[in-house]
Amino acid sequence: MRKAKNIIKKMNAGLVKSCQNLRNVNVLSRVVLIVAAVMMVVAIGIVLFYKTPLKEVICNPETHTVVEVKRGDTLSKILGEQGFAMRDIDTISKTLKTEADFTTLRADKDKVDFIRPNEKAPVSKIVIVNGPWTRIEIDCGTPNTWQCQKVEIERDTRITYKEGEIKDGSSFYLAGLEAGIPEGILIDVYDLLAFEMDFERDIRAGQKFYVLYEENFASEKKVDNGHILAVSFDALRGNVQMYRYVKPDGHAGYYDENGNGAIKSLKRTPINNAKITSKFAGRRKHPVLGFTRAHKGVDFRAPTGTPIPAAGSGRVIARSFNRGHGNFVKIRHNGTFETLYAHMSKFAKGVNVGTVVRQGQIIGYAGSTGLSTGPHLHYEVIKNGVHVNPLTVKLPAIENLDAKNKPLFMEYKKKLDSKIELLKNNPNKVVRLDDKEEVKK
Ligand SMILES: [Zn+2]
Repeated sequence: MRKAKNIIKKMNAGLVKSCQNLRNVNVLSRVVLIVAAVMMVVAIGIVLFYKTPLKEVICNPETHTVVEVKRGDTLSKILGEQGFAMRDIDTISKTLKTEADFTTLRADKDKVDFIRPNEKAPVSKIVIVNGPWTRIEIDCGTPNTWQCQKVEIERDTRITYKEGEIKDGSSFYLAGLEAGIPEGILIDVYDLLAFEMDFERDIRAGQKFYVLYEENFASEKKVDNGHILAVSFDALRGNVQMYRYVKPDGHAGYYDENGNGAIKSLKRTPINNAKITSKFAGRRKHPVLGFTRAHKGVDFRAPTGTPIPAAGSGRVIARSFNRGHGNFVKIRHNGTFETLYAHMSKFAKGVNVGTVVRQGQIIGYAGSTGLSTGPHLHYEVIKNGVHVNPLTVKLPAIENLDAKNKPLFMEYKKKLDSKIELLKNNPNKVVRLDDKEEVKK
C-alpha cells in the first residue's frame, strides 16, 4: 500500500515536472498529458481499491481467546463469560453430550479456544483441547446451529534408545538423567526393575543399562513419551532384560529374553528408594519392648504421610489396629503369599476388608502408630503362613507366555534387538517400529 502511494507520488511529481517543461508547447499536447495523468491516477486508484479488502484479511486474522480451565469452572460459566446467551449454552452442552460424549471440563488440564473471524465478530468456532491427542471442535455454521466433532490427532510414534553407566558414588536415578532418559521414563524403568533388583543395595559403579522407549510426535513436534519397549540392566546377579510385548488379544506385558513373565508377583520394597532401618531377623532386641524377639519384617524409613503402595495385586484381608502394629493392612495375593503393612498414620480412602487392590495402589500412609520409635513402614511377607524375608524370598514370575505366543514374542524380540543395534550405531536416525517408514533426519 505504502509502496503504491509512493509510486503515485513519484508519478505525480514527474507529471508536474513534465507539465512545467511543456508549458510552452501547444495546448493540445497539454490537454493530452493532463488526461493521461488523470487516467493513470484513476487506474492506480482502482487497483488500490480492489487491493484494500485483501489487506484487511491479512492484518486482522481470526482471533483466538484461549481459556485455561481452573478449579470451579464449568463449561456454562466459561461460555457465559465469552458472551454466549443461555439458550446457546444449553444447545452447545447438549450437542457436546450427544455428539462427542463430552460432559465435564477438567481443571488445570483442559483448555477452551474461542475463535472469531475478527475481534468484534461473534464466536465462529470453539475448540476444546482435552488432552494431547484429542480435540473437540464446535462449529457455528449458521447462527444458532452448533455442530460438533471429536478430532483425533494423528500420532507419529518413533523409538529412542538411551544407554548409561553407573558412576562411582552415583545412583541409578542420576546416571539415568545423565544418559538423557526423561524422568517419567526413568521412574517407569525403576518400577519395572524393582521386581528384579534392589536399587538401594544392588547398585555398583560400572553397571551398564539401556532403555528403548517410544516418543510420540504430532506435526513433527514431540508431544509426549510412550511405552518402554525394552530395558536392560547389569544387575549383581546377572543381566536383567525385559521386553514389552502385546499379545494378539491386546494384552501387554513385560517378558525376559526367554519369554518368561518379567514382573514378579510382589515388590520386595513397596516404597521406592526407602532406606532400610531394620532387617528381617529371627531374633533381635525390640526397640520399644526392650527384650529380644524376632523381627518378622523389614522396616523402611518413611516420613509420616508417605503413600504406601500395595506390593502386589490382591485382596485386603485386614484393615485394623493392634497394640504392636498400630494401624495395619494385610493383603492376600494368592494361595501362597500375604503382605502386611504396619504403623500407618491413616488408611487410604476406599481400602476396606474385601477390597481388591492392584499392584502399586496406595493402601495407606506411613506413620508411627503402635509400638514404634518413629515414622516408618514395617513390611511383612508371609509365605504359606510363615514370615519370610521380603528381600530374599524367591518370588514367582507371573504371566508366562503360552505356546502360541512364545514364538511370536521371540520374533518380536528379534525386531526390537535389531532396532537397538540400529539406534546404537545411528543415534540421530528417525526409527519407527515399522521398517518401511524409516527415513533419515
Ligand atoms: Zn518392624
